Amino acid sequence: MYSFKEIGLVAVLSFTALVIGISTDTLGWTLFLATLMWIFIQNQQFQRVKKWSKHPWRRPANGLDSWFDIAYQPHRTLLRERRRTKQATSRLRQILDLVELNPDGMVVLTKHGEIEGLNKSATRMLQLHDRNIGLSLSTVVRNPEFVHFISAETRGFDSPPLEFASALNPDDTLEARKFSIQNGGLIILIRDITALNRLLTVRQNFIANVSHELRTPLAVIQGYMESIADETEPPEFRLSLTSKLTSPINRLQNLVDDLLLLTNLESTEPEENLTAIDLTTVIAQALKVLGGHLHADTRVVENYDIQPWVIGKASELQSLAVNLITNALRYSNEDTPVDLSVSCQNGRVRFTVSDRGVGIAAEHLGRLTERFYRVDMVDSRTRGGTGLGLAIVKHVLLRHDSKLHIETKLGAGSTFWCEFNQALQPT
Ligand code: ADP
Repeated sequence: MYSFKEIGLVAVLSFTALVIGISTDTLGWTLFLATLMWIFIQNQQFQRVKKWSKHPWRRPANGLDSWFDIAYQPHRTLLRERRRTKQATSRLRQILDLVELNPDGMVVLTKHGEIEGLNKSATRMLQLHDRNIGLSLSTVVRNPEFVHFISAETRGFDSPPLEFASALNPDDTLEARKFSIQNGGLIILIRDITALNRLLTVRQNFIANVSHELRTPLAVIQGYMESIADETEPPEFRLSLTSKLTSPINRLQNLVDDLLLLTNLESTEPEENLTAIDLTTVIAQALKVLGGHLHADTRVVENYDIQPWVIGKASELQSLAVNLITNALRYSNEDTPVDLSVSCQNGRVRFTVSDRGVGIAAEHLGRLTERFYRVDMVDSRTRGGTGLGLAIVKHVLLRHDSKLHIETKLGAGSTFWCEFNQALQPT
């Protein structure tokens, strides 16, 4: 579109040529000169646009409106596209960062099975390098199961994933899934399922152990109940059997109590505001709970230092004391003493339980605090153990920022000790 400025310029040029031409009688020449001048001006404008076109993202120089329009429209489109490209690039960069940071491995394959791209996790999990890009995945990963998995037709979330041993650490298990992409290629996702598998095994073992522990006393109760219900037996005999039910019922009760306590210790956060507690009072309470049971009242020898105040939770510390003292009494002869001591050193209060009992062989020490782990299953059961005592002790100590120490000699006895942060005696 011509603007007023351009029409005005044409008018001024033509008018000047007309006036000069008529007054000097050289109208032809003046009109010719005016036309030349107009061509010159247009050529100048054209050169400016040409110069601008070499750097089109710069704003075009101001000029005659029709020429400025020619340059300005593409310039604006270019700026808009440049902004869009920048946004798309930054989004793409974010996605790439996410892919790189993803702990799961990702490999993109062409439709011919060549590696098109892969993230850091995939590089580590499959022991690949960036230089493998462009090579066929089945030639660089030498796991036959994996190679077969890539070439099989099935894909997507519905198809079974492949579980295979990690090349980095054969004890670790990886899981691969594959998905088709639009260009006929594949995306392979790989995740480390070692922890998940371990968790499943722990859960399965735990359920198997609990069922097993419950089954024994239940079978005993069932046996007695059948005899009690048998009307062919004399009534006095049937009545006498009811007293036999106490032991398996107590066993079931202990097991359920220990399980609930352990679950509670494992699944709840430790209290933040632990208070100052007199450890000797906690031990006295524990001994009271044990009472005449296992002859705790006659066999325990107490030796307490002064100021046994610790920072902790009384009920949890009491469970700890009950379990350690019970074990000491349980795994030693009735005529040997169990020594309890509380001493203070460098702001730490040490609680020690020592027995002169059966002792523990060194190879068991690492596993004693596992749930249901026993050195001798039958012996532990006959002595009334649930296999959860030391697991409870371990969790109580974890919640008190402490740990269990064991010194033991087979046939000579064991010493279990732990330390707590000392607290000032409340005034
Ligand atoms: P349990 O209920 O069977 O005693 P624990 O978790 O308390 O289970 O202990 C695990 C195992 O550690 C026991 O079965 C026993 O073999 C061994 N143990 C624990 N305390 C002692 C001890 N004072 N002396 C000898 N063995 C012990």
